[in-house]
Amino acid sequence: MTTPYVGRFAPSPTGPLHAGSLVAAVASYLDARVHHGTWLIRIEDIDEGRSVPGAAEGILELLRRLGMESDREVVWQSRRKHLYQAAFDRLAANAYACGCNRREIADSRLGFGPDGAAIYPGTCRNGLAPGRSTRSLRLRVPEPGADLVEFTDRFAGTIRQRLALESGDFVLKRADGYWAYQLAVVVDDAEQGVTDVVRGADLIDSTPRQIYLQRLLGVPTPRYLHVPVVRNAAGEKLSKQTGALAIAPDDEPAAVAALQDAARFLDLSVEPVDSLAGFWQAAVPAWARLLSLREVAAINPPG
Ligand code: GLU
Repeated sequence: MTTPYVGRFAPSPTGPLHAGSLVAAVASYLDARVHHGTWLIRIEDIDEGRSVPGAAEGILELLRRLGMESDREVVWQSRRKHLYQAAFDRLAANAYACGCNRREIADSRLGFGPDGAAIYPGTCRNGLAPGRSTRSLRLRVPEPGADLVEFTDRFAGTIRQRLALESGDFVLKRADGYWAYQLAVVVDDAEQGVTDVVRGADLIDSTPRQIYLQRLLGVPTPRYLHVPVVRNAAGEKLSKQTGALAIAPDDEPAAVAALQDAARFLDLSVEPVDSLAGFWQAAVPAWARLLSLREVAAINPPG
């Protein structure tokens, strides 16, 4: 018997929902519906310094107005710190205190990983140098040669990453005292029984670190599907920092239009509809058709 499908949308409430985050929400929601699964919303407010008061409530209200509601109670990362601490305690044998700041890591000139973060050179691996104090807590990754993590993305196919060379030992607890995204997301996906992660391709380079953490914690690895990221005219990923506009439909036709834009971006052929119910009715089979093309292509790449 296969495990029943559980998917999720996990927005960080750093601002209102924009066209980029809507694409991830719609894709994860449609994937859950096509698989007759459960769809969850998790508010990723673990970085309390970046969370904007009221943003999470605004996102939840907007999703509800668009017809997307969590099948279970919404989970908030800021209320689950005990779970991250417990997971860290289980990883402690593989973790160490690091005294380096950003500049020191960048100065080591090992370059940057695919996600743009400077590769950590392992300075504090064997203990803090005299006079240094703990800033962050890092996880030791395997030595080069034993550090390959490989997974099959449902759209992109085989993805490989050498953790030692492309990431280095990564942060579990940050210098500002917050638990790192990589740890929180792995703990939550496991604790919520998530079987399928559908999210933006900007996170594909984080996935190998997450899979490595899942292995250390002895929890299952979900299936992954990364959808393309929406960019603005300058080629930048939409975000609050790049000036993305909030989605704020004031009536049903505007809500349908926002969803149609997301569907078009995902390459879904959804005929023109004038109601939310009509949109979802057309979008679910359209997603199923897209999967039948894209998932086969990912397993048997051309050439
Ligand atoms: N909270 C992350 C974001 O808003 C998404 C994390 C995930 O889906 O794993 O970009």
